[in-house]
Amino acid sequence: SPDVVTFGETMAALRAQGALRLGGSLGLSVAGAESNVAIGLARLGHRVRWAGRVGADELGALVLRTLRAEGVDTGHAVTDDTGRPTGLLLTEPRLGTLTRVSYYRAGSAGSALAPDDVLPALEPGTRVLHLTGITPALGPSAAETVLSAARTARERGITVSLDVNHRSRLWTSDRARTALRPILAHTDLLIASEDELPLVHEAPGAGESDAVHGVLAAGVAEVVVKRGARGATVFTAVGSTDRAAREVDAVDLVGAGDAFVAGYLSGLLDGMDIPARLHRAVTTAAFAVATRGDWEGLPTRDELGLFDEPDGTTIR
Ligand code: ATP
Repeated sequence: SPDVVTFGETMAALRAQGALRLGGSLGLSVAGAESNVAIGLARLGHRVRWAGRVGADELGALVLRTLRAEGVDTGHAVTDDTGRPTGLLLTEPRLGTLTRVSYYRAGSAGSALAPDDVLPALEPGTRVLHLTGITPALGPSAAETVLSAARTARERGITVSLDVNHRSRLWTSDRARTALRPILAHTDLLIASEDELPLVHEAPGAGESDAVHGVLAAGVAEVVVKRGARGATVFTAVGSTDRAAREVDAVDLVGAGDAFVAGYLSGLLDGMDIPARLHRAVTTAAFAVATRGDWEGLPTRDELGLFDEPDGTTIR
């Protein structure tokens, strides 16, 4: 059985060199928060399964082929046979690390995800189920899928990890809060950016400490707060642990959060304590920040130590 099961929508990603409206050439890859985490974990040597729905089209084949090439188990992925296409996103770098992303995902195969697509993938013996707050925003059936997967995992003693990953293009904060509340009831590990904390707390105006303690009191064992270039903090019932980010020349910030999650879950699977998990998380995140693409630059286990080598080192 896999160590980690995750699911969600993975799209084809077209990356422009400059402003999209000027035309020019595009690079083709794939992107999806959960599959970024899956690839990150697979590169670190963990057994990981990705479930989800792709279109019966060439872009769907690209998504599955890419995940398979990265060593992610796609045996439970579903190909939509009702004509819904694989979703698409376009990214264009504008100023430095400021990137504009445009989505073409409404009515996609991935958004039609249903509980029957995913529940068979949750094999007993799985250690972690990783979810994101993107999936419930895709539609009622995708939302039901996340909730039933979280409930089933809890029943089977599988650790449930949830990254809030709020997408304001897909839904409002109020709708997100309403949908996340029942999922949180089955969540063991919550990961959020500082600005997402109000979405997981009943009193949206409350400060960080109130929000975090509200979540812990509701039964979530561990809350990880991501603070961008300032690092991250982990809160549990017994206290908190801060960790600075690693210093890197930032090239592309997209995917940093997913890389962080991959590193954190990897540390958890390896039985590390919280400081060591955070060390791995900020390291994998730094690889994502220092390289182009959402997942392409993620490290293998052998490469984790590269950040401790002096600048200019040649690996022979
Ligand atoms: P995204 O959704 O854009 O992937 P996020 O908002 O989920 O990102 P961030 O808090 O921005 O997550 O970043 C996650 C982690 O990535 C941080 O905790 C930090 O370790 C690392 N990171 C982000 N920005 C930088 C940076 N400029 N330099 C070094 N590390 C960074």
